[in-house]
Amino acid sequence: MIYFDNSATTFVSEGVRAKIVELTEDSLSANPGALHKLGTKAFSLYDSIRKETADILGAKTEEIFFTSCATESANTAIKGYMSRNKRAGNAVISTRTEHKATLECLDYLADLGYEIRYVKVGPDGKPDTDSLKEELGKGGVALACFTLVNNETGSVLPFESIAKTIKSVSPSTAIYLDCVQALGKMPVNLSALGVDMCSFSGHKIHSIKGNGVLYVRKGVRIDPLILGGGQQDGMRSGTQSPVLAGAFLEALKEVSTGIEESAEKIGEINSYLRKELSARGAMILSPDDALPYVLNVSFEGFESETMLHCLEIYDIYVSTVSACSAKQKKVSYVLLEMGVDRKIAANAVRLSFSRENTMDEAKEFIKCVDMIYDQFLVK
Ligand code: PLP
Repeated sequence: MIYFDNSATTFVSEGVRAKIVELTEDSLSANPGALHKLGTKAFSLYDSIRKETADILGAKTEEIFFTSCATESANTAIKGYMSRNKRAGNAVISTRTEHKATLECLDYLADLGYEIRYVKVGPDGKPDTDSLKEELGKGGVALACFTLVNNETGSVLPFESIAKTIKSVSPSTAIYLDCVQALGKMPVNLSALGVDMCSFSGHKIHSIKGNGVLYVRKGVRIDPLILGGGQQDGMRSGTQSPVLAGAFLEALKEVSTGIEESAEKIGEINSYLRKELSARGAMILSPDDALPYVLNVSFEGFESETMLHCLEIYDIYVSTVSACSAKQKKVSYVLLEMGVDRKIAANAVRLSFSRENTMDEAKEFIKCVDMIYDQFLVK
């Protein structure tokens, strides 16, 4: 099997599996809110996991909240910020290339009467600076929502210059950053980034599904999305799960080592595939300076889904558009927004790698593409 669908989800690492078994022991399984000593033990375990997670992400312990997924983190950050900070302004800026977790929150806010202003992106998927300045310059921007690494193309946000522009034109605008596809693939240090809110997802870094993280910078006030028993400082009610938090931490520790070496290895695989696929007439849609972990390619003569199923015959797994939209059989809105022709976008396939992928797999992939061209391409 060749699994090139790691932006959709990753396989659970051995370390995470072992950690889950360890953390589901009876002696660690009491309710962290219980007053007896088993409860105290579960709470201190949970708290130490939170602290270690914060340390690795370059945050303070009280800035880290465990959620069920990055979608929940995004909903909490975006809706919660706008709900709590009504006097900060009525507008939100973003791009139309964000993940649905952000775009749907923005549609929700638009229905409530907020003004959503979309900044144009260039062919490289990056927000256009003039468009950004123009939208900020109209005033009243409470929140800016961007993504550090695009899940469909690997396009990397030039965060430093974007943040600088935001702070120079509209200093009071808060910044929410989706870091889901960046984590473990490039260094992410939250205090150095200088962002107000961030989301992360466990299942994209070899943890199990069902765990995410929300970062809220100290001093930033947001309304919680989930109300209840007041756990996690009232930010996210619901009985805390040391197992899920611990699974996230274990995965985070694993992907936080050897980031550069892995990026170099995946960079070589990416370059090889770009060269070989281009030589066969395929069109590379990921920008040249994209993160190497994502490679978006359009195969002339094959609709996206046809190529996906052809590759599946050879036990190779890829995506068409992002996993959330794939079942709706839509052409990628991300590619269209970048100015890619609809016919080319309709043939786009996303290969996405994890640090576990190898050059041998890439070579095997090319051999299979050749066989698919021989067998199925109508000349
Ligand atoms: N943001 C990006 C960039 C993603 O790729 C994804 C998942 O595809 C999400 C957010 C949502 O993550 P989750 O599945 O944890 O809700």
